[in-house]
Amino acid sequence: MQKIPFIQKKILLIFASLSIISSTLAQASEEVNVYSYRQAFLVEPLFDKFTEETGIKVNVIFAKKGMAERLAREGKHSPADILLTTDISRLIELHDRDLLQTYSSKTLLDAIPSQYRSKDNTWYALTTRVRNIYSAKRLGVINVNYEDLADSKYKGKICTRSGKHAYNIALVASMIATHGKAETLVWLEKFKANLARKPQGSDRGQVQAIHQKLCDISLGNSYYFGKMLADEKQKVWADGVYINFPNQSNRGAHVNISGMAMAKYAPNSESAKILMEFLVSKDAQKLYAETNMEYPVRTDVMPSALVASWGTFKADSLPLETIAKYRKEALKLIDQAKFDL
Ligand code: FE
Repeated sequence: MQKIPFIQKKILLIFASLSIISSTLAQASEEVNVYSYRQAFLVEPLFDKFTEETGIKVNVIFAKKGMAERLAREGKHSPADILLTTDISRLIELHDRDLLQTYSSKTLLDAIPSQYRSKDNTWYALTTRVRNIYSAKRLGVINVNYEDLADSKYKGKICTRSGKHAYNIALVASMIATHGKAETLVWLEKFKANLARKPQGSDRGQVQAIHQKLCDISLGNSYYFGKMLADEKQKVWADGVYINFPNQSNRGAHVNISGMAMAKYAPNSESAKILMEFLVSKDAQKLYAETNMEYPVRTDVMPSALVASWGTFKADSLPLETIAKYRKEALKLIDQAKFDL
C-alpha cells in the first residue's frame, strides 16, 4: 500500500473532522417551526438574527388564542417545534394537556433561575414582568403593597381590569400562596369595595382613568409603563403616575413571565434545541427584553436603560409553578368575592 505523506494525512484528518461537524449539523434540519402568541415586532428581529447565525430558517405562525386546541387537534402530525407565549397559565395549560416534551441542557439550566422554569424541564421563562401598582402623582410618593389595596383609606380610589384576566388571577394565586384562602377572600372583598368603578378595560386603560381623575391607584404590568411613555397619546397618562414596586419590605413584587417550550411531537427537535439555547443567550435576551420593555430572565443581562430607570426591585421568590397550582382556587375566590360584578 502506498504510504501517505504526513502533510496529506493531516489534510485527511481535517476533512474527517469537518465531516463529523457537518454530519452533526445535518442532524439539525434546515428549519424550525414556531407557534407564537408573541407579536411579530418582538420575535422577528430575534429570528432573523438566529437564521443569520445558524442558517436555520424559522417559520412562524402567529396567533392570539387557540394554541393548545390546535396542537391537540394536530396531534402527532403537528408541524410545531417551539411554542412561545406569555403568562404562566398558558404554559401550564400546554403542560397539563400533555402537549410538551422535556428538554434540558446546562446552558438552559444555568441561564434561567429555577423559580422561572418547570421542575420537569418542559417550559422555560424568557422574560419577566412585574405586576406593579401605579399611583397618581397628585397623591405624592406613597408606599403601597398588594395588601393595601384592601385598606379602606383607598375607598373609591382604585381601578383595575377584570379580576379574571390572567394577570390578576396569577396575582390572586400568589396571595393565596402567601396568606391562605380565607384571608385572600377577605382581601378580595375589601379590594372590591375600594374600586372606583366596575373592573373593565386594559392595564393601560386604568392609567388613563387615573389621568381622568376617575381613580388614583391601579394595577398594571411593568412594560405598559414603557409602552405608554413611547405612545404620543398615552404619554400624558404615564407622566401622571408613579410606577410602584409593591412589597419591597417583605416578600417582593409579584412577577409573571413570557416563556418557551418544545412541542411534544416537534419534527425538527434538533433545530428546536438550538433555537431554545439561542433565545437564552446574552445577545438574544437583551434584544428580546428591550424590544418589549420587559426584564431579561437572565440575571446577568441588564434591562433597557428606560426600564432600568424605574429602579431595581426585589421579586417574590415564589416558584411560578406554585402560583399555577393555586390558579383554580384564585378564580373561585374572585367569583365568590363577586369581584367583576
Ligand atoms: Fe400584556
